[in-house]
Amino acid sequence: MIQLVRGFKDVLPGEIELWQDIEDIMRNIFEEFGFTQIRTPILERTELFARGIGATTDIVEKEMYTFSDLKNESLSMRPEATASVVRAYIEHKMYAQNPVQKLYSMGPMFRRERPQKGRYRQFYQINAEVFGLYSPKIDAELILILMTLMDRLSLTEVVLHINSLGCERCRPAFKERLQIFLAERIETLCPDCRRRYEVNPLRVFDCKAQGCRESLEGAPTILDHLCEECRNHFNEVRDFLNRFQISYKVNPRLVRGLDYYTRTAFEVLAAHLGAQNAVAGGGRYDGLVKALGGPAQPGVGFAVGLDRLASLLSDRAPGLVKQPNVFIAALGDRAQDRAFVWLQALRFEGIRTEMDVEDRSLKSQMRQADKSGASYVLIVGERELEEGAAVWRDMNTKEQETVPLEEVVEFVKKSVMGIASA
Ligand code: AMP
Repeated sequence: MIQLVRGFKDVLPGEIELWQDIEDIMRNIFEEFGFTQIRTPILERTELFARGIGATTDIVEKEMYTFSDLKNESLSMRPEATASVVRAYIEHKMYAQNPVQKLYSMGPMFRRERPQKGRYRQFYQINAEVFGLYSPKIDAELILILMTLMDRLSLTEVVLHINSLGCERCRPAFKERLQIFLAERIETLCPDCRRRYEVNPLRVFDCKAQGCRESLEGAPTILDHLCEECRNHFNEVRDFLNRFQISYKVNPRLVRGLDYYTRTAFEVLAAHLGAQNAVAGGGRYDGLVKALGGPAQPGVGFAVGLDRLASLLSDRAPGLVKQPNVFIAALGDRAQDRAFVWLQALRFEGIRTEMDVEDRSLKSQMRQADKSGASYVLIVGERELEEGAAVWRDMNTKEQETVPLEEVVEFVKKSVMGIASA
């Protein structure tokens, strides 16, 4: 038997309903907040990610699925969405029409990380990006969108961490300070962090290795080294979060795995997820559009991990498969044919209806009806056709009544809809 590739997975019926619910909720929220959807391809030129994410990040150095296609062009499966959305913003000159664009997207990402619970090599994200606005109001608004999602999913056990990573004016000085601090502890850093120490020492804060964590005790923090503009910006973000009554923890050690972030960075963590506990993350990337060859327009965005959200929710409410409202048990060729037309007519009325088209015994069909979870069964056989009326059975009360054949669709509609709106 041919099996799944390691780190990849199927989302099966029974699980997918939850995914769809999350997507629907998120889509509604985005519409309420004035976002429109964008879909970018899964494959891009490798250079886009090298430049957009940072050539020395773990993602670009070790985790991309990269191959050269026939013309020796290096292509990569996208490991995240922002670089692609920025490329589209630039390539289609979306900024010329209006520099302010509020875009969302949903889809699979690919990273060749070590698979473990909550970490896959193909995983799904919902992404938001806002271009063209420097205001801290937008950072706060994006966090509000994210926390509204958590709220509508009743995920109360999550915590929001926020930080500011400064800008190109204040970060270099901090970087130097941190390097000076780490220089004395270089021996205790892991090999990866020794490299990071050179190029991007802030990322040492992201390392899970025990030695690196210990080395960072007493390290200077970026929050103490922000320039005045960055400090004001951060304070305003916080102020709006307070006004929106969103609770958060300022985490001066929060850095993100991607190089392009400036100022606001945030993450939503869930205690129950174990080691892979980040459900969502995001932040501001004011330099990225320009770095990728576009105009000097700022950006801010987030990514929510759908796999992890679904796993949090499935622990709580398994089996959200939508059950049919009605099952039609039809016996004999004539009844089967008649029922098959009702089946479609009822579906067009928005009533979830099923039947057994293989014309099995009444006993078998009643068993199927029961198993399907349908609230009602419409029974029709030769006798019912002769008498001109089908039998309508309420599966909860077990009560039965007869329905004239000509009135079946109207009757079922009234019964099912009537109950639904009661
Ligand atoms: P990142 O772009 O790394 O900040 O990721 C944003 C969100 O995507 C994270 O908070 C996770 O929920 C999710 N995510 C990232 N990597 C993976 C992965 N390998 N497997 C499952 N979810 C992931």
